[in-house]
This record gives sequence, structure tokens and C-alpha cells, in this order.
Amino acid sequence: MNIYEKIASIMGDVQYLAKDDRVEFNKTSYRALSEEKVTSIMRSELVKHKLVVYPVAQTANRAGTITHVDVTYRMVNVEDPKEYIEIASCGDGADTQDKGSGKAMTYAFKYMWLRTFALPTGEDPDKISSAELDAKQANIQPQGPPCADCGKEIMPYNDGKRAITAAEMAARSTEMFGRALCAKCSKAEGRRRADAGA
Ligand SMILES: [Zn+2]
Repeated sequence: MNIYEKIASIMGDVQYLAKDDRVEFNKTSYRALSEEKVTSIMRSELVKHKLVVYPVAQTANRAGTITHVDVTYRMVNVEDPKEYIEIASCGDGADTQDKGSGKAMTYAFKYMWLRTFALPTGEDPDKISSAELDAKQANIQPQGPPCADCGKEIMPYNDGKRAITAAEMAARSTEMFGRALCAKCSKAEGRRRADAGA
């Protein structure tokens, strides 16, 4: 079999990956798909169909607590090693210490499988708020410290351009206003200051 026939055959074998994880997010919780499950199922398919996958190129950059990686994987047909395809994937991982790139690579690896084999997971982004989804995809601690003004936990926030993590939100408001504020209270404080200055 050529590599495309093998991929098509795997797609026939694995039609769907059911979520196996439960993610608690503040007061809501939802099902998710773990990287362990994706990798263990796809690994046995690779062995069965005589394919190997390994990373051939990777770049990483870190902005604040978020590490972004771009990875190129090569999938080789073991029965004809000259035949291979390359697959681009990327991932983000948030960590205040040194685990950001590991989390980002885990994410990139998982999504390489889901994309290459067009695997549905039953994910319905409409059912999850985008901030939750962003937080989950970035593999981050969803909640930050409590807001200094309203006392509610600071949550991730999407300003329309990108996801801002709860930790970033707290750091940014502390820099601007001298205390950690949620998105709503940051806006209110910004308006108060603008009004006072006008
Ligand atoms: Zn607040």
C-alpha cells in the first residue's frame, strides 16, 4: 500500500475518538479528549499499517507565560521509506516555569493526529464559551487570582484578537492600575480614569 492508501485505511479504522477527560472550568465542566488517548490509539494504527511519525523541524517562541511551537512532522511509509509526507502543526502552552514548550508540543502532537486523519471528537465549540475554549486549548490554568475590586476569580478573556490568560490579565491590570482586576473591572477602571482625566 502507498502512504495515502494507508492513511485512508486508518481513517476507515478510526472513525471517531470519544472524549475521555472531564475538564472542570469554574462552575461548568465538559468532556475533552486526552493526548494519551489520541496517541495510544494512533500509535497502534501506525504499527499495524507500518508507518512512522517523527518531528523534523520545530521552532518555539515565548511571549509572557505562553510558549508557541510550530512543528513539522514527517510520516514515512516503512515499506517504502522513500515515500513520506510532511505535516505542519502548532500548539500553545502556558506555564510560568519551564513547562510551556512541553505543553505546546503535546498539543501540537495531538492536533497533528486529529487533522491528518480528520478525526471528529464531538467537540462543539458553540457549547463552550470562547474564553473557556481558548484556555483549554492553551492548556492553561483557567482561573487567576480574585479580582481586587469585585472579588470574583479573574478569568481568561478574548479581546477579539487573541486569548488573554487569567494570569496575563492579572499582570496587565496590576501594571496599569496597581491591582489585579478582572476584564470587566479593568474596563470600568479605565473608563473612570479617562473620565477623571477629561
Ligand atoms: Zn472584577
